[in-house]
Amino acid sequence: MGVFLTYAPNESGALVHVDDVANGAKCECHCPYCNAPLHAKNGGYQREHHFAHAHGKECEGAYESVLHLLAKEILQETGRIMLPKSDDSHFPSGSASIHNIEIEKFDERYGIKPDAEGIMDNGERILIEFYVSHKVDQKKRQIIVDNNLKCIEIDIKYQVLNKVELKKFLTNTDKGRKWIQATPHSLKSKSSSNSSKRDPMYEKTRDIIKDIFDNGTIIIHPHGPYTSFDLRQLGYDVCEINKRFRGFKSDLLLYRSQKKDGYISINLRGRSRYEDFEFPPELRIIDIVFKALSSTEDCARKRMKNGDLIDDGGMTIEYYGFK
Ligand SMILES: [Zn+2]
Repeated sequence: MGVFLTYAPNESGALVHVDDVANGAKCECHCPYCNAPLHAKNGGYQREHHFAHAHGKECEGAYESVLHLLAKEILQETGRIMLPKSDDSHFPSGSASIHNIEIEKFDERYGIKPDAEGIMDNGERILIEFYVSHKVDQKKRQIIVDNNLKCIEIDIKYQVLNKVELKKFLTNTDKGRKWIQATPHSLKSKSSSNSSKRDPMYEKTRDIIKDIFDNGTIIIHPHGPYTSFDLRQLGYDVCEINKRFRGFKSDLLLYRSQKKDGYISINLRGRSRYEDFEFPPELRIIDIVFKALSSTEDCARKRMKNGDLIDDGGMTIEYYGFK
């Protein structure tokens, strides 16, 4: 499965699938993030058909922007959304049909512009926000709470750019969404933003791993001590530092440049993740969790044992998304 741009807006702003347009520049589509013209690559059998920027460079926001457009389009087409459960009986739950849907219309009464707004069967107004890179900000949140508006925020940032799948997610599940309501613990996030800086040893170890890969290979053991995979042998040839993949930031991001696939995120951490943390489905994650940080570069280098990522007394390797 790729992470290719399979939809894009055409000249009139309508989202079109790459297989439904003319090849190359004749597709007359553009990127909703940077506005650059796109070329449709829908001729071959080698790769998944996709849109590429005419200038040939990567565009970090294209995928998320199209995802956002697609979610709004699906909502308009289906007129249906699965509402989240809530402890507060004030909020409805379950599958809801929504009428008179308006997309990104400025609401003068409250001075906000929700992604979508409509009317539920009971006559009540509902606001819907799709979250890909920006959560509803504090000011808007306050307006919603102060005016007793019913607004759900749906986190779609790691959803796949596939209309059938996204539709299922929005209408058949209640995952990734909640009602915006007064939060007694909203002050907590303030202090965590300027929380402890990372020990520079993490950065050093990261650079050492990159160095080991660039001059050799990395060997991973996602299925216990007995199965090992040499990433070079599997065709991995790129290792980038501090790279984002679909909004997920990695210390090291490895992939195969030929096919642009097999994305693996390697991260250096001081503790394990919560079990239900979310990441893009096209990504696999390896966390190197240190129990104690090596004090010297030499020590860190020795520990990585020429790229063989294995547990020892000072660190554990944790795998996510490997099957
Ligand atoms: Zn772009």
